[in-house]
Amino acid sequence: MRVDVLTIFPRMFTGPLDESIVKRAREKGLLQVNLVDIRDFSLDKHRTVDDYPYGGGPGMILRPEPVFLAVESLLQGGAGKKPPIILLSPQGEVFNQAMAQELAQEEWLILICGHYEGVDERIRAYLATREISIGDYILTGGELPAMVLIDAITRLLPGAVGAEDGPREDSFAWGILEYPQYTRPRSFRGLEVPEILLSGDHEKIRVWRRKKALERTWLKRPDLLKKVSLTEEDRRLLEEIVKENQGML
Ligand code: SAM
Repeated sequence: MRVDVLTIFPRMFTGPLDESIVKRAREKGLLQVNLVDIRDFSLDKHRTVDDYPYGGGPGMILRPEPVFLAVESLLQGGAGKKPPIILLSPQGEVFNQAMAQELAQEEWLILICGHYEGVDERIRAYLATREISIGDYILTGGELPAMVLIDAITRLLPGAVGAEDGPREDSFAWGILEYPQYTRPRSFRGLEVPEILLSGDHEKIRVWRRKKALERTWLKRPDLLKKVSLTEEDRRLLEEIVKENQGML
């Protein structure tokens, strides 16, 4: 996958792209990240890319010309391909695992990081094909959100994560939260690993994990249960969970 990131702070990406799974994915050639400095497309010798808002108000706005020029230069070298052009914005659709899975199918993405008080509306309306937020809070720029997208998408690229790290059963992968995980030691300060995980009975372990995953989701994120399709077994387990928790809530 190729990801072009338009930013005025390309150096912010150095750490996150150079560690762990993202680093390995780049080394394996599964991911190619191209950092494009929007200032390289500025129209003046001072490399200015922002200006005052028309109509007054606080802060500076990212001008449209350098951003349009940067995207157009990428598309010109893109053999007619039309990648999603994603504006990171607190006003966009809120990023989630399903979107990460959808974007991981693309062979090329262009991410635009806003900064300052925001971006000229023409970038949003006439250049970006999609607007994505990473949550209902305001960050100083789109760089961290871009890194969040790259990280979440990269670990879904085939071959990026080894079987030992398997993303298949992560929280959200099945629409619900993940079951509790334990590793050694078996006993830590008197806190024991649940016996069933040591039993070697794979079927019992599977059911226990499913029940725990359902229980956590029911307790912490009941909204997710409304969106997921439940099996007969899930319904039976949920009935047990509700009974077991009666009086405790
Ligand atoms: N005034 C803008 C508004 O209310 O929509 C916010 C501008 S914010 C300070 C500057 C830039 O940071 C935005 O253009 C966007 O690229 C990025 N940004 C901030 N919060 C974000 C979020 N939650 N998700 C995605 N991008 C965000």
